[in-house]
Amino acid sequence: MPTTDDFYSALRHELGQIEAAGLLKVERVMTSAQGSQVSTRENSELINLCANNYLGLSAHPQVVAAARETLDRRGFGLGSVRFICGTQDIHKELESRLSRFLGTEDTILYGSAFDANGGLFETLLGAEDAVISDELNHASIIDGIRLCKAKRLRFRHDDMEDLRHQLREADAAGARHKLVFTDGVFSMDGTIARLDEIRAICDESGALLGIDECHATGFLGKTGRGTHELKGVFGRVDIITGTLGKALGGASGGFTSARAEVVAMLRQRSRPYLFSNTVAPAIVGAGLKALDLLEADTGLRDRLEDNSSYFRAGLGALGFDLKPGSHPIIPVMVHEADTAQRLAQRLLELGVYVTGFFYPVVPRGQARIRVRVSALHTRAQLDTALEAFAQAGQELKVIA
Ligand SMILES: *Cc1c(COP(=O)(O)O)cnc(C)c1O
Repeated sequence: MPTTDDFYSALRHELGQIEAAGLLKVERVMTSAQGSQVSTRENSELINLCANNYLGLSAHPQVVAAARETLDRRGFGLGSVRFICGTQDIHKELESRLSRFLGTEDTILYGSAFDANGGLFETLLGAEDAVISDELNHASIIDGIRLCKAKRLRFRHDDMEDLRHQLREADAAGARHKLVFTDGVFSMDGTIARLDEIRAICDESGALLGIDECHATGFLGKTGRGTHELKGVFGRVDIITGTLGKALGGASGGFTSARAEVVAMLRQRSRPYLFSNTVAPAIVGAGLKALDLLEADTGLRDRLEDNSSYFRAGLGALGFDLKPGSHPIIPVMVHEADTAQRLAQRLLELGVYVTGFFYPVVPRGQARIRVRVSALHTRAQLDTALEAFAQAGQELKVIA
């Protein structure tokens, strides 16, 4: 009979294999706040090109002050789920402010967007229904769908013909309700979903449409509402999930925003909402301030857009192989995991903090450096980073 020692030794063996394959993810320890420049234990003043801190709100003075004031007024935590005694006035206020921002009827907060997706599908769909999901959807969507009994169909990434085909398959299987679900923005490639076409296809087929807006809320579209604004379908998406952990301050927290009856049912039945703690007051206060800032003017998202196109053009001119697009996620393709690791390491030595992504986060052979600019970066910082990319890229023969 295998012993518990065998169990631990099997884990050590598998970890050894991950390391030997060059696939071990090592966490770098930062000793500063998140920002356009950060310090780690080994390096100080690195230009930071990897955070989801799109608008620079994680350490924005007004956001930090709002968190501090809310901490003073409403305490550190509630020690409760929402329906027992975890709902404060500010939770209700943030839910209604998010609904206004996103153009929906109502919003429900979760501890994370992972939980929002995890508690969505099972609550709304039964065995008679079908969910049709883009094959590259985020892990939390995949897991959420796994938990529900609906028939599961996947369409090829960003392939409208296949989406139509899968909807016909769902009809042929006698599906009652159909929900098409896609990332608004796919985080590994920066690809933006063609929501205008997807909405039209859903309408032809009588399907609901849901999107995960984690990499869009706050900056995509001309007033930063998200992919639905950018693609001209604002107010016409049935369900939006998103995060407070990226552009909207970067701490944690997620939400689902939809028609009132959808949100009402989630409050009754969604397991991560019913069985997990309420969002901390300071995060809620900071989220409200983030929305104040974004509704007051579009300066931050405009700067992000400028920085994105400037840096993308700069990397392209140096000869790097970029996945095309316009999102602040700029994938620099190097294909091999090992090259991604070495390029990231060399850039770090040159004062630029980027992360290599490789299997299993992206498919084998598609390793990359995922660059991300923020609204905070100055032109001088971006130019310094481009010089480092030129040097490291030439040394490692990634560019000529
Ligand atoms: C980051 C991310 C999530 C998870 O968000 P959290 O709030 O950190 O749990 C979910 N979906 C997508 C597409 C994401 O990029």
